[in-house]
Amino acid sequence: MIKLENVSMKYKASSRPALSGLNLEVDKGEFAFLIGPSGSGKSTFFRLLLKEDKPTTGEVFVGEYHVNRLKARMVPRLRQSVGCVFQDFRLLQQKSVADNVAFALEVIGKQPQVIRKVVPEVLDYVGLSGKADRMPNELSGGEMQRVAIARAIVNRPLVLLADEPTGNLDPETSEEIVDVLDRVNRRGTTVLMATHDRHIVDAMRRRVLEFDSGHLVRNDERGVYGIG
Ligand code: ADP
Ligand code: ADP
Repeated sequence: MIKLENVSMKYKASSRPALSGLNLEVDKGEFAFLIGPSGSGKSTFFRLLLKEDKPTTGEVFVGEYHVNRLKARMVPRLRQSVGCVFQDFRLLQQKSVADNVAFALEVIGKQPQVIRKVVPEVLDYVGLSGKADRMPNELSGGEMQRVAIARAIVNRPLVLLADEPTGNLDPETSEEIVDVLDRVNRRGTTVLMATHDRHIVDAMRRRVLEFDSGHLVRNDERGVYGIG
């Protein structure tokens, strides 16, 4: 599903590489945690998968896409296959819960009758039935992240990237959000989650990819957070 061959990446503004000599494969349907200190390269890895940056050297594959060779006009297709959620939710504040999700379908030209059917289904799926007409500023943090997840999965992407999705949430709410991600994963979506939350990593026992200074220093199946 995801494959990186000898990937290195150096930002122009920076003297040392953000990622170095990365070789990595994640299979379809896996759930993998990305751990490591701030600045170790986790977000850069996500940006390469989305073609928001390109590697200085090496090859990046996501599903059927050879990402580093992908033509510009195909990039929107790639991004439709890769859903994203972030620590700060990034909801459209002027739109209701339902409209935040509907917007993701409108921009790819889905028919209104499809949107009317699918939006309530996906809100139900993430545990937000009854909140469709709320505005983002009326929601708890956990609810905002559920909206973000609904929006990210409504097109049934192959991959879901979650960049510290529980970073702004209390422990109990964090567990609920990970439960939602786990359900999305069990439905077949590959999930990559960057996190600093050792309790979540240790409770889940999924693949652990540990980064340090741009190097992949650990790739454990059913791993734990570690001693760090
Ligand atoms: P993480 O997500 O693990 O915190 P990042 O991928 O954001 O790590 O950062 C990896 C390295 O790249 C760090 O040294 C960071 O300072 C650097 N970096 C990240 N984004 C940029 C940028 N836009 N320009 C220059 N350097 C950057
Ligand atoms: P599970 O196996 O977790 O029960 P299902 O795939 O059976 O999940 O989906 C349960 C319900 O949620 C169905 O009504 C389905 O249409 C809806 N649903 C699940 N995922 C999505 C999605 N990404 N977009 C829209 N609706 C979804």
